[in-house]
Amino acid sequence: MSDAFTIGCHLSSSKGYSQMARDAASIGANTFQFFTRNPRGARAKDIDPADVAAFASLAQEAGIETFLAHAPYTLNPASAKPETREFAIQVLADDLVRMENTPGQMYNMHPGAHVGQGAERGIELVADALNQVLDPSQTTRVLLETMAGKGTEIGGTFAEIRAIIDRVDLTDHIGVCLDTCHVFDGGYDLVNDLEGVIGEFDKVIGLEHLYAIHLNDSKNSLGSHKDRHARIGEGNIGLDALVAVTEYPSLRDLPFFLETPQEELAGWADEIALIKGQRN
Ligand code: FE
Ligand code: FE
Ligand code: ZN
Repeated sequence: MSDAFTIGCHLSSSKGYSQMARDAASIGANTFQFFTRNPRGARAKDIDPADVAAFASLAQEAGIETFLAHAPYTLNPASAKPETREFAIQVLADDLVRMENTPGQMYNMHPGAHVGQGAERGIELVADALNQVLDPSQTTRVLLETMAGKGTEIGGTFAEIRAIIDRVDLTDHIGVCLDTCHVFDGGYDLVNDLEGVIGEFDKVIGLEHLYAIHLNDSKNSLGSHKDRHARIGEGNIGLDALVAVTEYPSLRDLPFFLETPQEELAGWADEIALIKGQRN
């Protein structure tokens, strides 16, 4: 069986794309994720064309075809405050322009929080923001991340993700990133009923919309709505269930991204080796 397992982790983008390709290669990864700017949403550094060119050849050597950019998680396109929504829209639009320096990649975002306005209103606002920033000429696919449903977070259920997609005009520019810690904390039992959870995802959203997996263990219990990631095998999902996610027939060809609490690259190298060693 030809097996192109695509796995990487979240890396620091402070030294540019070529350094991320080197870091990924050094830990046995063939993909990676990074924040497009600091999580607070500050101004992004200019992209250096020489860095992008160097990245292209390093990526080819390392077998890196895909990466996932992550929007600042503090953006809230569903805010009740017009200025907060406007800021989110500006950052998303600017990031999508910048993403065209590396065409055909993916950009992940948290849908946002409805802050008491109700999920329905929040969903409308997120879809409206997407309709403002998406353009047919863009080559980037924007992924909505499944969330733990902490506080007034939108996207804690598959139905909420589906409702956003239903309201977006350029559906072919949209996708979903499933975060294992988030869905477990959201109440989807990946440990005892992986088949049921994936079946539910397919029924409600459609597996054709699934483009990436955030592979994380959880410090909390099923349905806790907490969102605290644990290292692979050190949380309540556990190594076996997470390896099963990477082996599942309709998931196994997707890119997997570790967002586990590690201090150093060596920690992710160990996790990647652990998963590769267990995976069939
Ligand atoms: Fe995220
Ligand atoms: Fe995540
Ligand atoms: Zn999280």
